[in-house]
Amino acid sequence: MSATPATPVISREWHLVARPEGWPKPEDFALREVELPEPGEGQILVRNVHMSVDPYMRGRMNDVKSYIPPFELDRPMDGGAVGEVVASRAEGLAPGDHVLHGLGWREYAVVDARRTVKVDPAAAPLSAYLGVLGMPGMTAYAGLLEVASFKEGDAVFVSGAAGAVGSQVGQIAKLKGASRVIGSAGSDEKVRVLIEEYGFDAAFNYKNGSVAEQLHKAAPDGIDVYFENVGGEHLEAALSALNPHGRITVCGLIAQYNATEPQPGPRNLAQLLAKRLRMQGMIVSDHEALRPQFFEEVGGWLRSGELKYRETVVEGIDHAVDAFLGLLRGENTGKMIVTL
Ligand code: NDP
Repeated sequence: MSATPATPVISREWHLVARPEGWPKPEDFALREVELPEPGEGQILVRNVHMSVDPYMRGRMNDVKSYIPPFELDRPMDGGAVGEVVASRAEGLAPGDHVLHGLGWREYAVVDARRTVKVDPAAAPLSAYLGVLGMPGMTAYAGLLEVASFKEGDAVFVSGAAGAVGSQVGQIAKLKGASRVIGSAGSDEKVRVLIEEYGFDAAFNYKNGSVAEQLHKAAPDGIDVYFENVGGEHLEAALSALNPHGRITVCGLIAQYNATEPQPGPRNLAQLLAKRLRMQGMIVSDHEALRPQFFEEVGGWLRSGELKYRETVVEGIDHAVDAFLGLLRGENTGKMIVTL
């Protein structure tokens, strides 16, 4: 165990200062300087190296009851981060160690050691623990294999396919023997990446025309699994394209995260009945039991080069809100990371 630092640590952290109405504005956030307390017994001081911005954080900006509490106004926001231990009053963690923890959106954090996971920067780049080997990776793995009950030979359609979760869903499906993998994304360049880098069988830009028509062309024999990241027109198109006994994992509905009015449901819900489809929501934290299997299998694919990933990296805590807003606008390919 090591001593705490002699001089007080000054850190900058992002506070939510107003609840966004519709699209968040830069004025809804403030970067504030604070002096950190010294770590207490069982705590560590961490210098964050990378922090995560994720779509679910938009929901936490609303004052509504959900599966995770809302951000408080005039308090630091939180989220995934990886950093280096600077001082420790906890058994088993020493300065120079690296940890994954939940106090992102800030330069330094005093964290309870039991709420951290020690990570090895030699085994994978630190940022990977926020993406391909982290929460989005687990979401893809559990959402496809457990929630959608994927089986060899299934044809899989994933929306948001060039993002952190979507790009991994498509590749895992291919690695596990999907008969066909189709993705949709918001630019022609993303579509190119899906096909040329990730090996999708077909992909289309949902901004180029009707999703239903483009999906029908990309999957003339229909689909067995739809991995939903978007909602709206995508869900309607998928319901029409699904084969009997198809499954839908409802992972995210990003097309409606900034909506100010309740969004209408799909107009073709009757397809659910006629085709005996199963549609199930998911929250990644329910699938912790899969983690060892996830690390082993995804770690193996990364080492062998069979699974590829991209990151979009924004530099500097000052630009963390820009990174978050950019994520909602689709400026990322793969995981959006803020490097501090
Ligand atoms: P991504 O890396 O996919 O980034 C978000 C992407 O969403 C953007 O790049 C953009 O890409 C796309 N997007 C934004 N607005 C729209 C729109 N109106 N219509 C279609 N696409 C849009 O983020 P993640 O991989 O982290 O998350 C993907 C989804 O998974 C999200 O819905 C998220 O909420 C959900 N999620 C759910 C979890 C759970 O436990 N249920 C856990 C983690 C994530 P494009 O250029 O293609 O439009």
